[in-house]
Amino acid sequence: MTNYFQSTRNQNIKVSASQAILQGLSQDGGLFVLPDFTNRSYPIEQLQEASYQKIAQNIFQLFFDEFSREEIAECVSKAYDQKFSHPAITPIVKVGPSYVLELFHGPTSAFKDVALSILPHFMAQALNKQQVEEKILILTATSGDTGKAALEGFRDNEAIDIMVFYPNEGVSTIQERQMQTQRGDNVSVCAIEGNFDDAQSSLKEIFNDQVLQQELHQKQIQLSSANSVNIGRLVPQIVYYFDAYRQLLDQNEIELNEPVDFVVPTGNFGNILAGYYAKKLGLPIRNLICASNDNHILTDFLQTGIYDARREFLKTSSPSMDILISSNLERLLFDVSGQDSVYVNKCMTKLKEDGYFSVDSEILKALQEIFVAGFASDERVGQTIHDVYEETGYVLDPHTAVAHAVMEELDDCTCKRIVLATASPYKFVESVLAALELEHATLSEYEKMALLEKMTGVSIPQRLQSLMDLPVLHQDVIAKDAIKMYIQSQIKGGN
Ligand SMILES: *Cc1c(COP(=O)(O)O)cnc(C)c1O
Repeated sequence: MTNYFQSTRNQNIKVSASQAILQGLSQDGGLFVLPDFTNRSYPIEQLQEASYQKIAQNIFQLFFDEFSREEIAECVSKAYDQKFSHPAITPIVKVGPSYVLELFHGPTSAFKDVALSILPHFMAQALNKQQVEEKILILTATSGDTGKAALEGFRDNEAIDIMVFYPNEGVSTIQERQMQTQRGDNVSVCAIEGNFDDAQSSLKEIFNDQVLQQELHQKQIQLSSANSVNIGRLVPQIVYYFDAYRQLLDQNEIELNEPVDFVVPTGNFGNILAGYYAKKLGLPIRNLICASNDNHILTDFLQTGIYDARREFLKTSSPSMDILISSNLERLLFDVSGQDSVYVNKCMTKLKEDGYFSVDSEILKALQEIFVAGFASDERVGQTIHDVYEETGYVLDPHTAVAHAVMEELDDCTCKRIVLATASPYKFVESVLAALELEHATLSEYEKMALLEKMTGVSIPQRLQSLMDLPVLHQDVIAKDAIKMYIQSQIKGGN
């Protein structure tokens, strides 16, 4: 029997894996999920003989069994055999009494590369299976890192075009420059006068805009998403939880079946949800620690059961986590409510109409058995980067520092703790230099990176070294409500 995916908001909407990957978002606004996990598991006693690629192969077969072994193997090899600068893909490093799982050795130096290196290959296979004649147009909202990783993943793909929207003045200098210098015939990049939530909600409306869809169909264009709402983006993130556990087993740091905690710097809830799926598949995870920055809506939710987006959106030193509407929470609610799409629909409608929703006490209790939440202010983040460097010589980026700070505050060493490191410190070089109290006001971006390298001995990622010399190719800035018009103006008619 082949898996099918259903909408979190309507159990009658059922699609195959390839349809789910191509559509990105369900037409009712819901997200595609596997209806239930009870009959699926990953045999962890086999982890020690595996490699990253082998674990990836096994996980993808569990979820995307519509694809053959050979098809999956081809995707895995194209994504992971060459493109990561570290042979372990996602190496684990001991830092003080805990561990850091480095997810940033891909082409754009952020964890988004892990999934966005493979999503384009899944899409290509899915296009084949569905015999789609239309061109795919990927619309992507980014808080800074998804944009570049998706652009790199999809550039020069003949069957797929991609457009990326990012918050003007809402990303780091390096992140912005990475996107503005993107080459490729099939890419557009545009800043909006708004924040990530504005971009994401505009795109969600566009996905549900039947009139626009019709207009696009006439031009032989079909929309899809590269955000973590796409199940093809989420599933690849499960792999590194298993691989982290494997590495700890290999290094004799843990014994088989020993429970561990993962600490996850969280924004759109994609990364940590992948951890939850890993736990459901049998990985011995005790707690998933959900770490937020000053936009701590998830901390409040996991502590009180009330998700209240009626609050100010704050800009922090961890911009990729500046998010108030965490899309993937919907998938978690679906699961903990016992796959109750009516319940999820009710919560999401309430959030859209009134700006908040709350969950029943049983659901809150179920969540709190697994998730522990905390947040770190920007000041704490700076202090953490400083102190961890002083004590261990390890340089955290601000997002990873959020997680580290939350972990320290919880001060619970009763099991091994793994912090997910989501970006290279060089992407946020200015905040990192400030935290390390290194004078940098007059330096160019390249000089800042060189200073960090000189002081810490951590090499600048190769692709970032030459970044500031590349020509700027994209400079559009539009109003936040002009995204639809922008898309229409960019479409040149089905070619
Ligand atoms: C996207 C991102 C996050 C947040 O991940 P989610 O899956 O959205 O929760 C954290 N850190 C960095 C560096 C990111 O790019």
